[in-house]
Amino acid sequence: MTEERHIAVRIEKDQEGRYISVPFDLPERVAWFSVTYDYPHSEEHPDGDWKISTTVNRIDLALVNPDGEQAGSSGAVRREVQIGGLAATPGYRPQTIQAGRWTIVAGAYRIVPDGVTVHYTIRWEKKTRAWFLGDLHTHTVASDGILTADELARHGRRHGLDFIAVTDHNNALPAAALPSVDGLTVIPGLEWTHYQGHANMLGLDRPYTGSFHANTRQEAVAHFTEARANGAVIVINHPCDPLYKFAFGLERFPYDMLEVWNGPMRESNVRAIAFWHQKLVSGEKIAACCGSDYHRDSIFQMLGGPCLAVLAWSREVKDLLEAAVLGHSYLVYGPDGPRLTMTCGQAVLGDTVAWNRDCRLDLYAERLQAGDSVRLIGPEGVLAAWQAEHAGSLKTSFAVTGPGFVRAEIHRVFAREVPVLPALVSNPIYFDRGDV
Ligand SMILES: [Zn+2]
Ligand SMILES: [Zn+2]
Repeated sequence: MTEERHIAVRIEKDQEGRYISVPFDLPERVAWFSVTYDYPHSEEHPDGDWKISTTVNRIDLALVNPDGEQAGSSGAVRREVQIGGLAATPGYRPQTIQAGRWTIVAGAYRIVPDGVTVHYTIRWEKKTRAWFLGDLHTHTVASDGILTADELARHGRRHGLDFIAVTDHNNALPAAALPSVDGLTVIPGLEWTHYQGHANMLGLDRPYTGSFHANTRQEAVAHFTEARANGAVIVINHPCDPLYKFAFGLERFPYDMLEVWNGPMRESNVRAIAFWHQKLVSGEKIAACCGSDYHRDSIFQMLGGPCLAVLAWSREVKDLLEAAVLGHSYLVYGPDGPRLTMTCGQAVLGDTVAWNRDCRLDLYAERLQAGDSVRLIGPEGVLAAWQAEHAGSLKTSFAVTGPGFVRAEIHRVFAREVPVLPALVSNPIYFDRGDV
Protein backbone atom coordinates (compact mmCIF):
# COMPACT_ATOMS: atom_id res chain seq x y z
CA MET A 1 0.00 0.00 0.00
CA THR A 2 1.35 3.41 -0.97
CA GLU A 3 1.24 6.29 1.50
CA GLU A 4 1.87 9.89 0.63
CA ARG A 5 2.53 13.31 2.06
CA HIS A 6 2.35 16.78 0.50
CA ILE A 7 4.59 19.71 1.31
CA ALA A 8 4.19 23.21 -0.13
CA VAL A 9 7.28 25.40 -0.01
CA ARG A 10 7.22 29.13 -0.64
CA ILE A 11 10.37 30.55 -2.27
CA GLU A 12 10.79 34.31 -2.61
CA LYS A 13 12.77 36.23 -5.21
CA ASP A 14 15.45 37.15 -2.67
CA GLN A 15 16.18 33.45 -2.15
CA GLU A 16 17.24 33.08 -5.79
CA GLY A 17 20.65 31.44 -6.01
CA ARG A 18 20.26 29.67 -2.66
CA TYR A 19 19.59 26.05 -1.66
CA ILE A 20 16.59 25.51 0.58
CA SER A 21 16.33 22.42 2.79
CA VAL A 22 12.93 20.78 2.90
CA PRO A 23 12.90 17.99 5.50
CA PHE A 24 10.54 15.02 5.49
CA ASP A 25 10.43 11.86 7.61
CA LEU A 26 10.20 8.27 6.45
CA PRO A 27 9.11 5.40 8.71
CA GLU A 28 10.93 2.07 9.27
CA ARG A 29 11.02 -0.58 6.52
CA VAL A 30 10.29 1.47 3.43
CA ALA A 31 10.81 -0.46 0.19
CA TRP A 32 10.99 2.65 -2.05
CA PHE A 33 9.88 6.26 -2.10
CA SER A 34 9.39 8.88 -4.78
CA VAL A 35 9.50 12.67 -4.79
CA THR A 36 7.36 14.51 -7.33
CA TYR A 37 7.30 18.28 -7.55
CA ASP A 38 5.50 20.92 -9.46
CA TYR A 39 5.55 24.72 -9.81
CA PRO A 40 4.77 27.27 -12.57
CA HIS A 41 7.83 26.82 -14.72
CA SER A 42 6.92 28.48 -17.99
CA GLU A 43 4.68 31.17 -19.39
CA GLU A 44 3.27 31.34 -22.91
CA HIS A 45 2.95 34.56 -24.87
CA PRO A 46 1.25 34.93 -28.28
CA ASP A 47 3.56 36.16 -30.98
CA GLY A 48 1.62 36.48 -34.26
CA ASP A 49 0.61 32.88 -35.21
CA TRP A 50 3.12 31.51 -32.73
CA LYS A 51 3.22 30.96 -29.05
CA ILE A 52 6.44 31.65 -27.26
CA SER A 53 7.13 29.76 -24.09
CA THR A 54 9.57 31.30 -21.62
CA THR A 55 11.01 29.77 -18.52
CA VAL A 56 9.97 31.79 -15.51
CA ASN A 57 11.07 29.67 -12.54
CA ARG A 58 13.62 26.94 -12.25
CA ILE A 59 13.88 24.78 -9.16
CA ASP A 60 16.55 22.07 -9.00
CA LEU A 61 16.25 18.85 -7.02
CA ALA A 62 18.66 16.83 -4.90
CA LEU A 63 18.04 14.40 -2.02
CA VAL A 64 20.10 13.82 1.11
CA ASN A 65 19.64 10.76 3.33
CA PRO A 66 19.49 10.77 7.17
CA ASP A 67 23.28 10.20 7.33
CA GLY A 68 23.79 13.48 5.46
CA GLU A 69 24.94 11.64 2.31
CA GLN A 70 23.77 12.79 -1.09
CA ALA A 71 21.33 10.20 -2.42
CA GLY A 72 21.27 11.80 -5.86
CA SER A 73 20.64 14.99 -7.75
CA SER A 74 18.81 15.76 -10.98
CA GLY A 75 18.89 19.51 -11.54
CA ALA A 76 15.54 20.52 -13.01
CA VAL A 77 15.40 17.79 -15.69
CA ARG A 78 13.15 15.38 -13.77
CA ARG A 79 9.85 16.13 -12.05
CA GLU A 80 9.75 12.73 -10.39
CA VAL A 81 12.54 10.64 -8.93
CA GLN A 82 12.38 7.34 -7.11
CA ILE A 83 14.81 5.54 -4.81
CA GLY A 84 14.52 1.97 -3.57
CA GLY A 85 16.71 -0.71 -2.09
CA LEU A 86 17.13 -2.44 -5.45
CA ALA A 87 16.68 0.29 -8.08
CA ALA A 88 16.60 4.06 -8.47
CA THR A 89 16.08 6.77 -11.08
CA PRO A 90 19.38 7.43 -12.95
CA GLY A 91 21.30 10.03 -10.99
CA TYR A 92 20.12 8.49 -7.70
CA ARG A 93 21.74 5.64 -5.81
CA PRO A 94 19.72 2.50 -4.95
CA GLN A 95 20.00 2.06 -1.19
CA THR A 96 18.27 0.52 1.78
CA ILE A 97 15.86 3.29 2.71
CA GLN A 98 16.80 4.54 6.16
CA ALA A 99 14.05 5.57 8.51
CA GLY A 100 14.33 9.13 9.78
CA ARG A 101 14.80 12.61 8.42
CA TRP A 102 15.52 12.96 4.73
CA THR A 103 16.09 16.31 3.05
CA ILE A 104 14.95 17.67 -0.29
CA VAL A 105 17.47 20.24 -1.46
CA ALA A 106 15.47 22.79 -3.46
CA GLY A 107 17.87 24.73 -5.64
CA ALA A 108 16.32 28.17 -6.30
CA TYR A 109 18.07 28.74 -9.63
CA ARG A 110 15.54 31.17 -11.13
CA ILE A 111 12.56 32.79 -9.34
CA VAL A 112 9.97 35.29 -10.68
CA PRO A 113 9.65 38.65 -8.85
CA ASP A 114 6.43 37.52 -7.07
CA GLY A 115 8.05 34.36 -5.73
CA VAL A 116 6.86 30.80 -6.32
CA THR A 117 5.14 27.98 -4.40
CA VAL A 118 6.62 24.54 -5.04
CA HIS A 119 4.38 21.53 -4.34
CA TYR A 120 6.20 18.36 -3.35
CA THR A 121 4.54 14.95 -3.07
CA ILE A 122 6.42 12.18 -1.29
CA ARG A 123 5.06 8.66 -1.82
CA TRP A 124 6.40 5.53 -0.19
CA GLU A 125 5.61 1.88 0.09
CA LYS A 126 6.40 -0.22 3.13
CA LYS A 127 8.06 -3.60 2.83
CA THR A 128 6.09 -6.81 3.31
CA ARG A 129 7.74 -10.07 4.27
CA ALA A 130 8.14 -12.70 1.57
CA TRP A 131 10.04 -15.92 0.97
CA PHE A 132 13.25 -15.79 -1.08
CA LEU A 133 15.32 -18.74 -2.21
CA GLY A 134 19.07 -18.61 -2.58
CA ASP A 135 22.51 -20.11 -2.34
CA LEU A 136 24.98 -18.72 0.19
CA HIS A 137 28.07 -20.64 -0.94
CA THR A 138 29.43 -20.56 -4.50
CA HIS A 139 32.76 -20.34 -6.30
CA THR A 140 33.79 -18.69 -9.57
CA VAL A 141 36.93 -18.41 -11.67
CA ALA A 142 38.25 -16.09 -8.95
CA SER A 143 39.09 -19.34 -7.11
CA ASP A 144 38.48 -22.92 -8.24
CA GLY A 145 35.06 -22.57 -9.92
CA ILE A 146 34.65 -22.66 -13.69
CA LEU A 147 32.07 -19.88 -14.24
CA THR A 148 32.65 -16.15 -14.14
CA ALA A 149 30.54 -14.30 -11.57
CA ASP A 150 28.35 -13.10 -14.42
CA GLU A 151 27.76 -16.61 -15.74
CA LEU A 152 27.15 -17.83 -12.21
CA ALA A 153 24.53 -15.13 -11.58
CA ARG A 154 22.66 -15.91 -14.80
CA HIS A 155 22.87 -19.64 -14.01
CA GLY A 156 21.44 -18.93 -10.54
CA ARG A 157 18.48 -16.99 -11.90
CA ARG A 158 17.76 -19.74 -14.44
CA HIS A 159 17.68 -22.21 -11.53
CA GLY A 160 14.93 -20.14 -9.89
CA LEU A 161 17.11 -18.52 -7.23
CA ASP A 162 16.41 -15.04 -5.86
CA PHE A 163 19.88 -14.54 -4.39
CA ILE A 164 23.40 -15.96 -4.46
CA ALA A 165 26.46 -15.16 -2.42
CA VAL A 166 29.75 -15.23 -4.31
CA THR A 167 32.26 -16.76 -1.90
CA ASP A 168 35.59 -17.45 -3.52
CA HIS A 169 38.46 -18.80 -1.45
CA ASN A 170 40.10 -15.77 0.21
CA ASN A 171 39.04 -13.53 -2.69
CA ALA A 172 36.11 -11.16 -2.88
CA LEU A 173 34.88 -9.50 -6.02
CA PRO A 174 34.77 -5.71 -5.51
CA ALA A 175 31.16 -4.74 -4.75
CA ALA A 176 31.07 -2.49 -7.83
CA ALA A 177 32.00 -5.45 -10.05
CA LEU A 178 29.23 -7.75 -8.82
CA PRO A 179 27.02 -8.96 -11.66
CA SER A 180 23.63 -7.42 -12.17
CA VAL A 181 20.88 -9.82 -13.23
CA ASP A 182 17.19 -8.93 -13.16
CA GLY A 183 15.41 -10.52 -10.22
CA LEU A 184 18.59 -11.73 -8.52
CA THR A 185 20.45 -10.28 -5.55
CA VAL A 186 24.17 -10.94 -5.51
CA ILE A 187 25.65 -10.89 -2.01
CA PRO A 188 29.33 -9.95 -1.85
CA GLY A 189 31.58 -12.12 0.27
CA LEU A 190 34.42 -14.59 0.44
CA GLU A 191 35.19 -17.97 1.92
CA TRP A 192 37.95 -17.44 4.43
CA THR A 193 39.98 -20.53 3.68
CA HIS A 194 42.65 -21.77 6.03
CA TYR A 195 44.29 -25.15 6.61
CA GLN A 196 42.41 -25.26 9.94
CA GLY A 197 38.94 -24.32 8.71
CA HIS A 198 36.67 -22.45 6.30
CA ALA A 199 34.17 -19.66 7.01
CA ASN A 200 32.01 -17.51 4.75
CA MET A 201 32.16 -13.79 5.43
CA LEU A 202 29.10 -12.26 3.78
CA GLY A 203 27.73 -8.84 2.95
CA LEU A 204 31.03 -7.02 2.44
CA ASP A 205 33.66 -7.16 -0.26
CA ARG A 206 36.38 -6.33 2.22
CA PRO A 207 35.55 -7.89 5.58
CA TYR A 208 39.04 -7.44 7.05
CA THR A 209 42.11 -5.36 6.31
CA GLY A 210 45.34 -6.94 5.17
CA SER A 211 45.60 -10.54 4.08
CA PHE A 212 43.60 -13.65 5.07
CA HIS A 213 46.55 -15.59 6.37
CA ALA A 214 47.05 -16.43 10.01
CA ASN A 215 49.74 -18.51 11.68
CA THR A 216 48.17 -18.65 15.11
CA ARG A 217 44.67 -19.19 16.45
CA GLN A 218 44.86 -15.67 17.88
CA GLU A 219 45.54 -14.16 14.44
CA ALA A 220 42.62 -16.12 12.99
CA VAL A 221 40.28 -14.92 15.76
CA ALA A 222 41.44 -11.34 15.04
CA HIS A 223 40.30 -11.66 11.38
CA PHE A 224 36.88 -12.90 12.50
CA THR A 225 36.54 -10.20 15.15
CA GLU A 226 37.42 -7.46 12.69
CA ALA A 227 35.06 -8.83 10.02
CA ARG A 228 32.20 -9.02 12.54
CA ALA A 229 32.89 -5.46 13.76
CA ASN A 230 32.81 -4.28 10.13
CA GLY A 231 29.35 -5.80 9.74
CA ALA A 232 30.14 -9.05 7.93
CA VAL A 233 27.90 -12.04 8.59
CA ILE A 234 30.09 -15.02 9.43
CA VAL A 235 29.19 -18.63 8.67
CA ILE A 236 31.25 -21.57 9.91
CA ASN A 237 31.35 -23.75 6.80
CA HIS A 238 31.00 -27.54 6.66
CA PRO A 239 32.02 -27.85 10.35
CA CYS A 240 32.10 -31.68 10.29
CA ASP A 241 33.69 -32.26 6.87
CA PRO A 242 36.27 -35.08 7.12
CA LEU A 243 38.93 -33.04 5.26
CA TYR A 244 37.97 -29.42 5.85
CA LYS A 245 36.28 -29.35 9.23
CA PHE A 246 36.69 -26.33 11.51
CA ALA A 247 39.74 -27.71 13.30
CA PHE A 248 40.39 -24.56 15.29
CA GLY A 249 37.34 -25.33 17.46
CA LEU A 250 34.75 -22.61 17.81
CA GLU A 251 35.71 -21.08 21.17
CA ARG A 252 36.32 -17.32 20.90
CA PHE A 253 35.53 -17.29 17.17
CA PRO A 254 32.62 -14.88 16.63
CA TYR A 255 30.14 -16.30 14.11
CA ASP A 256 26.49 -15.93 13.15
CA MET A 257 25.48 -19.19 11.50
CA LEU A 258 26.51 -22.80 11.04
CA GLU A 259 26.53 -24.26 7.54
CA VAL A 260 25.09 -27.64 8.51
CA TRP A 261 24.26 -28.67 4.95
CA ASN A 262 26.99 -28.27 2.35
CA GLY A 263 26.44 -29.66 -1.16
CA PRO A 264 24.73 -33.03 -1.54
CA MET A 265 23.34 -34.62 1.64
CA ARG A 266 25.93 -37.01 3.05
CA GLU A 267 27.29 -38.27 6.35
CA SER A 268 29.29 -35.13 7.19
CA ASN A 269 26.11 -33.06 6.81
CA VAL A 270 24.13 -35.47 9.01
CA ARG A 271 26.88 -35.08 11.62
CA ALA A 272 26.83 -31.28 11.24
CA ILE A 273 23.04 -31.25 11.80
CA ALA A 274 23.56 -33.36 14.95
CA PHE A 275 26.35 -30.98 16.09
CA TRP A 276 24.00 -28.01 15.63
CA HIS A 277 21.16 -29.86 17.35
CA GLN A 278 23.38 -30.38 20.43
CA LYS A 279 24.05 -26.64 20.54
CA LEU A 280 20.30 -26.00 20.49
CA VAL A 281 19.82 -28.57 23.25
CA SER A 282 22.43 -26.76 25.36
CA GLY A 283 20.35 -23.57 25.04
CA GLU A 284 22.24 -21.76 22.26
CA LYS A 285 20.14 -19.97 19.69
CA ILE A 286 22.17 -20.25 16.52
CA ALA A 287 20.78 -20.30 13.00
CA ALA A 288 21.57 -23.14 10.63
CA CYS A 289 22.18 -22.38 6.98
CA CYS A 290 23.33 -24.17 3.87
CA GLY A 291 25.07 -23.71 0.55
CA SER A 292 25.84 -25.77 -2.52
CA ASP A 293 29.58 -24.97 -2.48
CA TYR A 294 29.07 -24.86 -6.23
CA HIS A 295 32.19 -25.13 -8.41
CA ARG A 296 30.76 -26.69 -11.58
CA ASP A 297 27.74 -28.75 -12.61
CA SER A 298 28.12 -32.44 -11.93
CA ILE A 299 25.82 -35.26 -10.85
CA PHE A 300 26.76 -34.46 -7.25
CA GLN A 301 26.71 -30.71 -7.43
CA MET A 302 24.23 -28.14 -8.67
CA LEU A 303 23.73 -24.47 -8.01
CA GLY A 304 21.07 -24.09 -5.33
CA GLY A 305 21.56 -27.65 -4.09
CA PRO A 306 20.82 -27.17 -1.26
CA CYS A 307 19.30 -23.71 -1.05
CA LEU A 308 18.15 -21.54 1.80
CA ALA A 309 14.56 -20.27 1.88
CA VAL A 310 14.44 -17.07 3.92
CA LEU A 311 11.44 -15.06 5.07
CA ALA A 312 12.81 -11.53 4.58
CA TRP A 313 11.49 -7.98 4.37
CA SER A 314 12.97 -7.60 0.89
CA ARG A 315 15.53 -8.99 -1.53
CA GLU A 316 18.05 -6.37 -0.40
CA VAL A 317 21.35 -7.84 0.85
CA LYS A 318 20.84 -6.41 4.33
CA ASP A 319 17.32 -7.83 4.72
CA LEU A 320 18.25 -11.26 3.36
CA LEU A 321 21.25 -11.62 5.66
CA GLU A 322 19.38 -10.28 8.67
CA ALA A 323 16.59 -12.83 8.13
CA ALA A 324 19.12 -15.64 7.69
CA VAL A 325 20.99 -14.75 10.90
CA LEU A 326 17.69 -14.62 12.81
CA GLY A 327 16.90 -18.11 11.51
CA HIS A 328 13.77 -17.01 9.64
CA SER A 329 14.60 -19.79 7.22
CA TYR A 330 14.74 -23.43 6.25
CA LEU A 331 17.22 -25.48 4.27
CA VAL A 332 15.92 -27.45 1.30
CA TYR A 333 17.67 -29.79 -1.12
CA GLY A 334 16.91 -27.69 -4.21
CA PRO A 335 14.68 -25.02 -5.74
CA ASP A 336 12.11 -27.71 -6.65
CA GLY A 337 11.94 -29.10 -3.12
CA PRO A 338 9.13 -28.96 -0.58
CA ARG A 339 7.97 -25.73 1.06
CA LEU A 340 7.29 -25.17 4.74
CA THR A 341 5.53 -22.64 6.93
CA MET A 342 5.67 -23.12 10.69
CA THR A 343 4.32 -20.48 13.06
CA CYS A 344 3.23 -20.12 16.67
CA GLY A 345 0.77 -17.24 16.75
CA GLN A 346 2.71 -14.32 15.23
CA ALA A 347 6.08 -16.04 15.73
CA VAL A 348 7.89 -17.46 12.71
CA LEU A 349 10.92 -19.75 12.39
CA GLY A 350 13.81 -18.34 14.42
CA ASP A 351 11.57 -16.40 16.81
CA THR A 352 11.29 -16.96 20.56
CA VAL A 353 7.96 -17.42 22.32
CA ALA A 354 7.37 -17.42 26.09
CA TRP A 355 6.04 -20.94 26.56
CA ASN A 356 2.66 -21.60 28.10
CA ARG A 357 0.22 -24.51 27.99
CA ASP A 358 -1.73 -22.98 25.12
CA CYS A 359 1.25 -22.76 22.74
CA ARG A 360 0.38 -24.44 19.45
CA LEU A 361 2.43 -24.73 16.31
CA ASP A 362 0.73 -24.37 12.95
CA LEU A 363 2.48 -26.35 10.30
CA TYR A 364 1.95 -26.26 6.56
CA ALA A 365 4.15 -28.37 4.29
CA GLU A 366 3.65 -28.25 0.53
CA ARG A 367 4.96 -30.08 -2.51
CA LEU A 368 5.30 -33.33 -0.60
CA GLN A 369 5.76 -36.62 -2.41
CA ALA A 370 4.19 -39.96 -1.49
CA GLY A 371 6.30 -41.52 1.25
CA ASP A 372 7.72 -38.24 2.58
CA SER A 373 7.79 -38.00 6.34
CA VAL A 374 7.35 -34.69 8.13
CA ARG A 375 8.89 -34.67 11.59
CA LEU A 376 8.84 -32.22 14.45
CA ILE A 377 11.98 -32.39 16.55
CA GLY A 378 12.56 -31.02 20.05
CA PRO A 379 15.43 -31.26 22.54
CA GLU A 380 14.62 -34.90 23.29
CA GLY A 381 14.22 -35.96 19.67
CA VAL A 382 11.21 -36.59 17.42
CA LEU A 383 8.02 -35.16 18.93
CA ALA A 384 5.65 -36.13 16.13
CA ALA A 385 5.83 -37.50 12.61
CA TRP A 386 3.42 -37.64 9.68
CA GLN A 387 3.82 -39.87 6.62
CA ALA A 388 2.48 -38.60 3.29
CA GLU A 389 0.39 -41.32 1.62
CA HIS A 390 0.25 -39.41 -1.63
CA ALA A 391 1.75 -36.29 -3.15
CA GLY A 392 0.31 -33.04 -1.84
CA SER A 393 0.40 -30.95 1.28
CA LEU A 394 0.06 -31.32 5.04
CA LYS A 395 -1.73 -28.79 7.20
CA THR A 396 -1.81 -29.51 10.89
CA SER A 397 -1.25 -28.07 14.32
CA PHE A 398 0.67 -29.36 17.31
CA ALA A 399 0.51 -28.59 21.04
CA VAL A 400 3.93 -27.63 22.44
CA THR A 401 4.19 -29.43 25.75
CA GLY A 402 7.15 -27.59 27.31
CA PRO A 403 9.92 -25.03 26.88
CA GLY A 404 12.88 -25.65 24.58
CA PHE A 405 12.56 -25.53 20.82
CA VAL A 406 10.74 -27.21 17.97
CA ARG A 407 12.17 -27.58 14.48
CA ALA A 408 10.91 -29.50 11.46
CA GLU A 409 12.51 -31.91 9.02
CA ILE A 410 11.08 -33.53 5.91
CA HIS A 411 12.66 -36.83 4.91
CA ARG A 412 12.38 -38.42 1.50
CA VAL A 413 13.37 -41.56 -0.38
CA PHE A 414 15.06 -39.96 -3.40
CA ALA A 415 15.86 -43.20 -5.21
CA ARG A 416 15.60 -46.92 -4.67
CA GLU A 417 18.50 -48.45 -2.72
CA VAL A 418 19.32 -44.99 -1.33
CA PRO A 419 18.66 -44.40 2.37
CA VAL A 420 15.97 -41.99 3.47
CA LEU A 421 17.56 -38.52 3.46
CA PRO A 422 16.60 -35.11 4.81
CA ALA A 423 14.96 -33.09 2.03
CA LEU A 424 14.26 -30.08 4.25
CA VAL A 425 15.57 -28.91 7.63
CA SER A 426 14.02 -25.91 9.34
CA ASN A 427 15.38 -23.55 11.92
CA PRO A 428 13.55 -23.83 15.24
CA ILE A 429 10.95 -21.76 16.98
CA TYR A 430 12.32 -21.34 20.52
CA PHE A 431 10.15 -21.62 23.61
CA ASP A 432 11.55 -19.86 26.64
CA ARG A 433 10.34 -20.71 30.10
CA GLY A 434 7.41 -18.32 30.64
CA ASP A 435 5.93 -17.17 33.95
CA VAL A 436 3.36 -19.99 33.88
ZN1 LIG B 1 35.08 -24.77 2.15
ZN1 LIG C 1 33.55 -23.43 -0.70
